[in-house]
Amino acid sequence: MKVAIVTGSSKGIGKACALRLARDGYTVVVNYSSSDEAALQTLEQIKAEGGDGMVYKANVAVLAEVKQMVRDVFKAYGRIDVLVNNAGIVRDEYLLMMNPDTLDKCFDLNVKGYFYCAQQVAVKMYKQKSGVIINMSSVSSKFALAGQAVYSATKGAVNSFTQTLAKELGGYGIRVNAVAPGFVATEMIEAIPEETRKGYLEKVPLKRFASADEVANVVSALASDQFAYVTGQVIVLDGGLSL
Ligand code: NAP
Repeated sequence: MKVAIVTGSSKGIGKACALRLARDGYTVVVNYSSSDEAALQTLEQIKAEGGDGMVYKANVAVLAEVKQMVRDVFKAYGRIDVLVNNAGIVRDEYLLMMNPDTLDKCFDLNVKGYFYCAQQVAVKMYKQKSGVIINMSSVSSKFALAGQAVYSATKGAVNSFTQTLAKELGGYGIRVNAVAPGFVATEMIEAIPEETRKGYLEKVPLKRFASADEVANVVSALASDQFAYVTGQVIVLDGGLSL
């Protein structure tokens, strides 16, 4: 049995990753922080397709909750093979109008939350001498979009620590990579005003947003042995947006 934890998998990209990894044969932990029903639906879909797993409610921006989740998952399954650090938030605010609270909210989840999960899971993977950590970044880390200074800074941090963790953990058989999607059709994108969304679409050479399944395809590939020699990379999947 191989076990994967996908943070923030009640919806959106995380949900697509959870379903895809379940199809790949992983027992999947569907983590979320508030959407009980949506998380249960993800698990039900996994089970309907012949897979297995559990839902686990934990705010991954809180270290104590991450520690408890990793402890409980390990107790239930005895191993953790893949961590997809996916739970994240976007807050579009121009610097001149920025609410300082935005800094804390975004860094607490998008950066500290990723570190908390990576550290707790890496301790288990270190003992197994194998594991894969995949961090959900964003093309915003490489391509400046006005209003996304805080978000892009969090994703830039994700890219940086992905490289460092890959170096630190490679000797223990642990690979660490990041996936940097452009615009993906999820609730996060639907929350952006229609006019802004249209403007974004015009900038994408492929003239469409990605589907969450297309991001999950890349996550699945990175988790697999087909990519056993790939570590410390940020795989950009943006329909050409950043060109
Ligand atoms: P989404 O549709 O808003 O889903 C976010 C998920 O994270 C939900 O399952 C949510 O569950 C969970 N979550 C939120 N706060 C959490 C917390 N504190 N602890 C645990 N889970 C939490 O987001 P998405 O668009 O799929 O984005 C997922 C990731 O992809 C993010 O890191 C985002 O930055 C990145 N990304 C997205 C896009 C895009 O265009 N959508 C592009 C590039 C990168 P609950 O509702 O239960 O809390």
